[in-house]
This record gives sequence, structure tokens and C-alpha cells, in this order.
Amino acid sequence: TGSQKIYDEMKKLCADLEGVTVEMEKDVPHIGVVKTGCQGICELGPLIRIEPYHYQYVKVQLEDCREIFERTVLKGEPVERLFYHKGEKAFAKPKDIPFIAKQTRVVLENCGNIDAESIDEYIASGGFKALAKAIFDMKPDEVVEVVDQSGLRGRGGGGFPAGRKWKQVARQPEKVRYVVCNGDEGDPGAFMDGSVMEGDPFKMIEGMIIAAYAVSAQEGYIYVRAEYPLSVARLKMAIAQAEEYHLLGDKIMGSDFSFHLHINRGAGAFVCGEGSALTASIEGNRGMPRVKPPRTVEKGLWEKPTVLNNVETFANVPNIILKGVEWFRSIGSEGSPGTKTFSITGAIENTGLLEVPMGTTLREIIYDIGGGIKGGGEFKAVQIGGPSGGCLITPHLDVGLDFDSVKKYDAIVGSGGLVVMDEHTCMVEVARFFMSFTQRESCGKCVPCREGTKRMLEILERIVKGEGKLEDLDQLEELAEMVRSMALCGLGKSAPLPVLSTLRTFRDEYVEHIVEKK
Ligand code: SF4
Repeated sequence: TGSQKIYDEMKKLCADLEGVTVEMEKDVPHIGVVKTGCQGICELGPLIRIEPYHYQYVKVQLEDCREIFERTVLKGEPVERLFYHKGEKAFAKPKDIPFIAKQTRVVLENCGNIDAESIDEYIASGGFKALAKAIFDMKPDEVVEVVDQSGLRGRGGGGFPAGRKWKQVARQPEKVRYVVCNGDEGDPGAFMDGSVMEGDPFKMIEGMIIAAYAVSAQEGYIYVRAEYPLSVARLKMAIAQAEEYHLLGDKIMGSDFSFHLHINRGAGAFVCGEGSALTASIEGNRGMPRVKPPRTVEKGLWEKPTVLNNVETFANVPNIILKGVEWFRSIGSEGSPGTKTFSITGAIENTGLLEVPMGTTLREIIYDIGGGIKGGGEFKAVQIGGPSGGCLITPHLDVGLDFDSVKKYDAIVGSGGLVVMDEHTCMVEVARFFMSFTQRESCGKCVPCREGTKRMLEILERIVKGEGKLEDLDQLEELAEMVRSMALCGLGKSAPLPVLSTLRTFRDEYVEHIVEKK
């Protein structure tokens, strides 16, 4: 709401100029205010960028607006006190701010830089060139092959190769096929996909249209959680504009290829992020996972072959088609090419949204980009991958984060949520928090998850209250292994991970809770 008030004030100041001739410092075509998506530096908002000077103002207050307007907008002069300051240094332009300067922005390249509600701005920044290339210069199986060769892995958590999934759909005998985008980002502390949908909805839509062309799908759905009303509004706007420009709908760009896209709002159940629960929810059924096989690629939405990827995965596709396999593989690590977006929150100086090559170390993310632990505190752990993930600690600071590396430590990259903890954080409480989240979100279909997570939560609550026994720790481990191996879907299988990783690394804290509180 702070940003909205500032937007309204700047708009008013610009409108007051209507009909007045102004001498500008630079050849500025027009004066106006546009809303962009997330620029990444969340804790420095409200933010204003003044073009064509590239000045980035942070923590702007309502009373600053007139000065910004009179000095910068009209005369091109900087208002230095509104620059980002770190010690003696002032950073005038976004590219100089360390939080942004050390990132590699591919998926987020347009976020914060273009008007997210304007297809013209997206097209002016190179948008839909990849779609034109795919439709007019490539056969569908060539598109599938390029995505496969690129090594793009699903950014939703599992890291399954996207090209392999597309190939499997393309070879199904059934000709009615669907493309579904998972925008049901439910991890506490994660807001990457929401930021992409709000900040650059056209990029993921372009990726979905390319996927539809590649596997000859006729219809697509974007499943967005209802808690993201701005994402829903911007996606609706983007779909309407793309249809108007014949980039969606019948005979796209005058070709024989047609594809229709719809939005489906989820009701906020975490389990609906799981593929089969998500498609069940789109069909109007209760969002519950089912036994596999058959897999979604064979029998997905309405039992038809379905490409199901998340927002970030689709948003990677246009650049891969346009710039090629070698370009994509030149970023990131061997087994996990490309970049990854992360949201970073908790006990960190710079909270926000970032994008780095896969394989970037936790140390670079926390200290170089994140600015270190808040208030000069000591790093204790980072919860990676949300409630399905695990804790990484000091010895892991130099591990390059990618899909394979963190699995060795009972953690997952997941969708990319990073919650940083300092020396004051109680790790037993962290495990209890995540267990209470997954227990609440368990759909109840299978006994190991429904009952196992409940029993685990009871034990953790007893320990936190100081009523635990040492034997509880063995029972906790046993239950965790049972749930992990016997639960039906990913939610249940990964629910014990925060407990297992904290028990392994911070067992002494569990013991202290039991012994000291006696
Ligand atoms: Fe539902 Fe949990 Fe079973 Fe998944 S593991 S189907 S969330 S009860």
C-alpha cells in the first residue's frame, strides 16, 4: 500500500503537467508513471526508478515525491539521499547495488524493468521472438529436442528433466493433450513464482505456448493459488492481450497452430502443488494425490497426456529457444544447467528475490548477495526447500547449490525458498513449525502420512514444552523413516526431512530441551 500511495502521488504530479511545455535535460519522449513487478530488493521498498537516468531511489516516502518530480523527473538531477547507502558508499543505479550486481538474471530479466501489464513493452524487449522462431523455423520435435538437449530441469522441486517429460507426452498415441503450469507456490517463505507471474507474465505464457506447439497440445491451464490476486489479474490481462495480438487462440501468428489458455484458481491447499492433486483440482475434484503409474505424461488432466511444469520452468523456455543449447549450458553446473531463482528471508540483511547460476555457493548467496546475517549475527543454518526441505549449516556454506548436491545432506533445492537462521534460532522449534505445517496440509488419504505426521508433531510439541523423554528421539527417527518410505506422495515423503536434518545436526539441542527442562 505504501507503493500504491507513491504511485498515485507521482501520477498526480505528472498529470498536473498536461498541456504545459517543459524544457527537459534529455530528449525524453514523454513523462509518465508505470507499475513494474518485483525488483528483488524487497526490504528497500517502496522503490522508484527514474528513466532514462537509471536512478534507483529506495525507501521512498510520500513527502519525497514532489522533490523527485521537480528535481529528477524535470531536470535530471539526482536526489542523493534516496540512493541505497551502505557505509560511506551511495549506489545510484540498480546494477551497482550489490544485491543485484552479483546476480545473473535470465528468468527475472524483465521483472522490475518493464510494465508487466503491457504486451507492447514485452514485445519491445524481444518478447515472442522465440515463439515466432519455434513456429516458423522449427518442427515440433526439434523444439522438444532443443529443450531436452539444454538439460533444463523442472524448477518446481523435483528437478525432473523438462525435455524428457515433453518427449514422453509428444509420443503418446492420444491426440488430445494439455499443457499445465503449476503456479501454486505454497512453501512458507517462497515467493519466486508469484514474482514472475506479477512481474513478467508474458514470459511464462510464451514458454507455455512453445510447449504446446512442441507437444501438439490444444488447451492449457495455469493453476494459481488464490492468495496471489495480483498474479491472477496480471495473467488474465496478459492472456487477453496475447489473444488480441493473435499470439494465443486460433491460428497463432497466422499459422495452423491453435492453443487456448485458461486460468484456474487454487484454494490454497499445499498438497495441490503435487501433480496429480493439481490436475484433480482443475477437474473440479478434491485435490488429492493418486497412485502412480499412470504418470501425468500418460494420463494427466482429464486422463489425457499432460505437460506439467512450474512457472520458472516455462519462463526459461523462450531464452533457450532463442539463444540455444550451448548458451543455456554455459550457465550453471553440469548436471543442473541454467539459473535458479531463490527467495531469501529470515535473519539476513537483504531479504528479497534473487537469481543466480545453479551451483552458486550458499556463502555467495548469504554474504555477497544477502549482505550477511542481520545485525552482524552468526550464521547457524538455512532451511532450503521449505517444509519439504532440510537444513544446511556452516560446513555446507561452500557447497554449490544444485539439484544433486544438496540431496546428499537430506535437503532439496525445492522451488527455491531460503529461510536464514542465526544463533538465536531454536532448531527444535523450527522442526516443530515445519511439521505442524505439513501435518495441517496432509490430505489424509494415506495412513503413514496422516497418522505418522500427527504422532511426530505430538512428540515435537512435548519436547518443545520440556515434557519430552530421551526415548522420544529414537521414536521420532523411526516414525520419520516410516513416513518417508511409505507415504504416497511427495508431501508425505518429504515431510520428515526438516526433523531428520535437524536431529542429525542439532541433536544436542533436542537433548538440552529434554534434560535441562526436567
Ligand atoms: Fe495425502 Fe500425505 Fe498421503 Fe500425500 S502422503 S497422499 S498428502 S496423506
